[in-house]
Amino acid sequence: MKIITILGARPQFIKASVVSCALSNAGIDETIIHTGQHFDSLMSDIFFQDLDLPQPHYHLNIHSLNHGAMTGRMMEKIEEILLQNLPDWICVYGDTNSTLAGALVAAKLHIPLIHIEAGLRSFNRQMPEEINRVVTDHLSQLLFAPTPLAVECLQKEGIAEGVHLVGDVMKDAILSYQAKAKQTSEILARHQLAPNNFYLATIHRPSNTDDSRRLSSILNSFTQLDLPVVFPIHPRTKAQIHQMDLNDYLTTNSIIAIPPVSYLDMLMLESSCQAVITDSGGIQKEAYILGRPCFTLREETEWKETVDWGWNKLVHPENLRESITHFTQPSEWPILYGKGDAAIEIVNILRGSREQGAGSRE
Ligand code: UDP
Repeated sequence: MKIITILGARPQFIKASVVSCALSNAGIDETIIHTGQHFDSLMSDIFFQDLDLPQPHYHLNIHSLNHGAMTGRMMEKIEEILLQNLPDWICVYGDTNSTLAGALVAAKLHIPLIHIEAGLRSFNRQMPEEINRVVTDHLSQLLFAPTPLAVECLQKEGIAEGVHLVGDVMKDAILSYQAKAKQTSEILARHQLAPNNFYLATIHRPSNTDDSRRLSSILNSFTQLDLPVVFPIHPRTKAQIHQMDLNDYLTTNSIIAIPPVSYLDMLMLESSCQAVITDSGGIQKEAYILGRPCFTLREETEWKETVDWGWNKLVHPENLRESITHFTQPSEWPILYGKGDAAIEIVNILRGSREQGAGSRE
């Protein structure tokens, strides 16, 4: 069986690291195409160095373009590679332009498509990611859903065939790398951080970064908190802060502004902080898995179960301080996102599908 995996963005490298490992252990031939959507060393190379992820076989170097141009150019290059190198399956992750480009090419070439992290919905079509998810799910033959809610969302859109509830590969990644993070990460010492004595914040969604009033309100809210905020800054957020002349916030004592960190450093920060403040999808879920309260600077979330169980609050920046002050830890913390064996489940189902004749050119 031959699989071509299409990756392009930070969370996809993390998700793929556990699945690639499971594929390789099962003797399945995987070729990786890196679209280049995330390209600088702290957003890309560092994950290939630290995690069990093979170097990409193809690097398309496509980035820093508007959505249409980026997706179109990726499609053109991906199509060229696939025509020379027809696989049994194409595999895509999550909801980026790289996901969408891979899904559209697979559909046009009639190559069966695997979507890992299928069925997520924010029900906000202003988010570019929402469009990417919906289209990709509708084009996929094998859909690996992380939660029962994701399965339900797919069912409501008429997608039942090929859907498998396997848990979340990001939970697998946490369980796989937590010990290595504890052994090797020096991030707490480097910034003189004591456990439970700081908040961890990440911001990168266009809804938070592209409007200067909103972005300054977020930065201002960080300065109002009772503990310093460690803030690994995403490159596009950094560019916006600079462009909007908001750099002064980053020099206050309340904000420890640092470049994006490695996944191992991130796991240390997430498990040691007092609480997480974010607009990231993956980080809301990681906060839950690591038992940390999360304050999400958005109006809706795809990871609704974290809100339902009381561990995640959707907040407006102006209410952040109040929300943190009045937070009480829920008494229940049910196991969500599976047992940490989603990648193995995915590989087992793939092997089963070969026996049934789907996705096989052999
Ligand atoms: N992450 C990281 N370093 C950082 C920020 C995030 O390793 O400086 C990891 C984080 O732990 C999670 C993933 O990147 O696994 C989330 O990516 P991001 O927030 O960029 O994307 P989203 O999940 O919102 O799509």
